[in-house]
Amino acid sequence: MSVSAHNPPPAAARQPAVLTDFDDTAAVQNVAELLLERFGRPDWTAVRQRFRDGALSLKEYQEITFLDIRADKIAMQEYVRSRACFRPGFAALWQYCQANGLPMCVVSQGLDFYVQALLDGIGLPGVPVYAVDTTFDDNGRIAGYAYAFTNPDAPELGNSKAVLVQRFQQQGHHVFFMGDGRSDFEAGTVADTVFAHRQMAAMCDDAGVAYIPFTDFAPVLDAVKRHMAGVLA
Ligand SMILES: [Mg+2]
Repeated sequence: MSVSAHNPPPAAARQPAVLTDFDDTAAVQNVAELLLERFGRPDWTAVRQRFRDGALSLKEYQEITFLDIRADKIAMQEYVRSRACFRPGFAALWQYCQANGLPMCVVSQGLDFYVQALLDGIGLPGVPVYAVDTTFDDNGRIAGYAYAFTNPDAPELGNSKAVLVQRFQQQGHHVFFMGDGRSDFEAGTVADTVFAHRQMAAMCDDAGVAYIPFTDFAPVLDAVKRHMAGVLA
C-alpha cells in the first residue's frame, strides 16, 4: 500500500516500522569499543576523549581510530562474534515483524561489517542494516568509508538517523525507535514512539522528549503488538 506524504493515514492506523541503534542498544556491548580495545592503536582512547569533549564528531572519531586498526576484516568479525551479543528479545521482535510484514532494521553510525558479523552470528543475516559503508583493501584492511543517508544540511556529520526515521514516516509508518547515545537523540525527537536509555534518556529528560526506558526488547515487542491491535481494530 502506498501512502501519499500529503495525505497520511490517521496515526492509529499507521503500520509500525521498528528502527534500532546497534552499539549499546541492539547489542549489549559497544562493539566499536570492543574492537578498538583489542585491535586499536594504544592512543585510541585519547581520540575518544577528544570526541567526548566535543572537539571531534562521532564520524571523525570513528574514521581516525578505525583507519589505524591493526587487524583485517575476518579477524575483526570473528572477534565480534566471540565477544558480543544481542539484548534479549531482539530475535523475537524480528520474527514478529517478519511474520506481520513490518519493516525492522538496524540504524547505526557504526561500521557495517561489525553489525553484519553479529547478525550473521545469530542466524539473522537478512536484517537490513543502515550503517557506515566500509571499504577494504586487498589485504582486508579498512580503506575508507561512505555515507548513504546524510542530512543535506549537515553532511559533515555523516549518516543521520533522523533522516531514516522520516523516510519511513513518509512511507506511512509509525516509527518505533530505540537508542542510547548522542547520535540517537535527533531521531528520538522525530520518531513516534521512543525507547531510550543511558545518555539518550538523559538528553530526552533535559529536552522534555517523551520516551520509554528499556533494557531489552520485550517491552518493544509488547508496544508494537498493542499498536498493531489498534491498526487492525
Ligand atoms: Mg548506541
